[in-house]
Amino acid sequence: VESHAEDDCLFCGIIAGRVPSEKVYEDESLYAFKDVNPKAAVHVLIVPKRHYANVAELAAADPELLASMVIKAQDIADQAFHGAYRLIFNTGKDAGQSVFHVHAHVLTGEVMDE
Ligand code: 5GP
Ligand code: ZN
Repeated sequence: VESHAEDDCLFCGIIAGRVPSEKVYEDESLYAFKDVNPKAAVHVLIVPKRHYANVAELAAADPELLASMVIKAQDIADQAFHGAYRLIFNTGKDAGQSVFHVHAHVLTGEVMDE
């Protein structure tokens, strides 16, 4: 039996509905949901439905899909906080990446001073 990285991937499980999440947005290529441990008044994770380990792999394989994530982040912030937001891609374990399915952290909904 073949094994796929996706079988063990938490965010593939969320996208497939095997793991519950608070959905914010979904289309044919993207899924967005609330971070379970929010670091801002609004903290949304945007993921591509296709599994890529990190943002550099995604950028190399499908730059338009990466651009669509940025546009969706802007949409979320336009609705939540007059278009102001932080967009973070932790990349690599030592930078704080804990889930190796690329995800954009959208932090918004409050003034951030530092
Ligand atoms: P990373 O540290 O990889 O950049 O970000 C992973 C994020 O996923 C963390 O902010 C963490 O709170 C969030 N997270 C981890 N497990 C779950 C989960 O089961 N559900 C949701 N909604 N978020 C999760
Ligand atoms: Zn995955």
